[in-house]
Amino acid sequence: MSQIMEKIYALFRMNILIFVLLAATVIALFAYQNGLDDIEFLNLSDYPYVIAESDSVDGGTSAIALERTDSSIIVDYELREGYAYPYAGVKIFLGDGKVRGKDLSHYDSIFVWVKPRGEGTVRLYMRGYDSSFYRQDDETSLKFNEVEFFPLEETYPAVFVPQEFRVASWWVAQNEINVHKARVDLSNIPLIEIQTGTNAPLGYGTLEIRGLCFKGKKIAKVDLVTILVSVWFVTFLIILVIRFFDYSRERVANKRKQEELEKNLAALQIEKSEYEKSSKEDPLTGCLNRAGFSSILLREQENLSKNGCPVSFVMLDIDHFKEVNDTYGHSVGDEVLVNLTRLIRDKIRNTDALVRWGGEEFVILCGDTPIQNAQFLAEKLRVAIEGATLIKQQQVTCSFGIAEMIPGEDPKKLFERADKALYSAKEGGRNRVVSAMFKRR
Ligand code: GH3
Ligand code: MG
Ligand code: MG
Repeated sequence: MSQIMEKIYALFRMNILIFVLLAATVIALFAYQNGLDDIEFLNLSDYPYVIAESDSVDGGTSAIALERTDSSIIVDYELREGYAYPYAGVKIFLGDGKVRGKDLSHYDSIFVWVKPRGEGTVRLYMRGYDSSFYRQDDETSLKFNEVEFFPLEETYPAVFVPQEFRVASWWVAQNEINVHKARVDLSNIPLIEIQTGTNAPLGYGTLEIRGLCFKGKKIAKVDLVTILVSVWFVTFLIILVIRFFDYSRERVANKRKQEELEKNLAALQIEKSEYEKSSKEDPLTGCLNRAGFSSILLREQENLSKNGCPVSFVMLDIDHFKEVNDTYGHSVGDEVLVNLTRLIRDKIRNTDALVRWGGEEFVILCGDTPIQNAQFLAEKLRVAIEGATLIKQQQVTCSFGIAEMIPGEDPKKLFERADKALYSAKEGGRNRVVSAMFKRR
């Protein structure tokens, strides 16, 4: 069951239905134009209730003789003076001739084959039953839907559309019919009358009625259009609803995908920043490495050249560190490195950058610091290191070399000067601070 539903659902989704509907519409319209005809031929020989009629019922004296062949009714008459409007003709009963008749309202055209042998017009009455003014056993209370015409030659039928009929005005007047009821109504015709028309000349004549035919469509145009429009409308509505649900589902899926992507992106960004950090950091001490240092150096260089902010470079090296390693092992050496950097970090400003320059050699890049202040800082650090217990086994000291950056100078020169100063400190007996010569311009 659900499989069938899914197939129908897919059909709606794939728009195949629209093509099917389009084809069905074209076929329906084509069929309507070229087929679907509803033709009813009144074969007169099939209707036993055909009787002759003349003005004698109205007090006239016209004579009449009816003859029926296999396919037609022949009325021989003689119109005589007597009644004010002499006439002769036939009554053809459809249904019971009283209250039950044929519904002819849905036919577009009415064909009448009448061959008069005489002059004048022919009158056709479609007598209609309407309960609101029908009087029991009074045939005159059947509505007189009337059309009067000159018959055509021989084989051609007279063709009428229902709109050509009128309700006989004398009948409306005689029966005092309300205006809304005095309209042509072919929905229940128990009786048809074909007579000689107005001003038919007195004397002999013949009326040969060969047949009556009603032609229409099996389905009314308005019904066809209504059905087609309804089907299209409902289909579009269903497609619209399905599209809406599809869209909502897609939106939910997209949102979920987007959230996932965002999560991945955030994870990647964290990873990236961690990677960036680790690529600029020394893993043992957490100090900047040379890669991390270069961006800070650039910043300080710019600050110096643009704003004239002095930059100092403090280079320090642990004294006799090899001994520590050799005596207590490499891990104790590492402990010294970690504790030393912790101590230094506590004593410098946030804006100063602590860099692991090489094995047990560190650099502090001090922005906005002239050489005198750097010297003061180095001395403070030296004393602090000397007095600190970095490892319990022995005292650790450091030597310091200091230089100040000259605007526009190649940084290599700065490092060399600091390195030289540091060398002098080592030479001078270690655990001391030496500044490179600097003359402010
Ligand atoms: P000086 O006072 O002249 O600086 O003497 P020194 O022994 O410190 O001299 P040197 O620069 O020759 O020795 C540096 C030693 O530092 C050599 C190496 O074993 C050690 N070292 C370098 N990096 C590390 C490290 O990451 N961990 C440890 N434990 N030792 C290191
Ligand atoms: Mg050393
Ligand atoms: Mg060294």
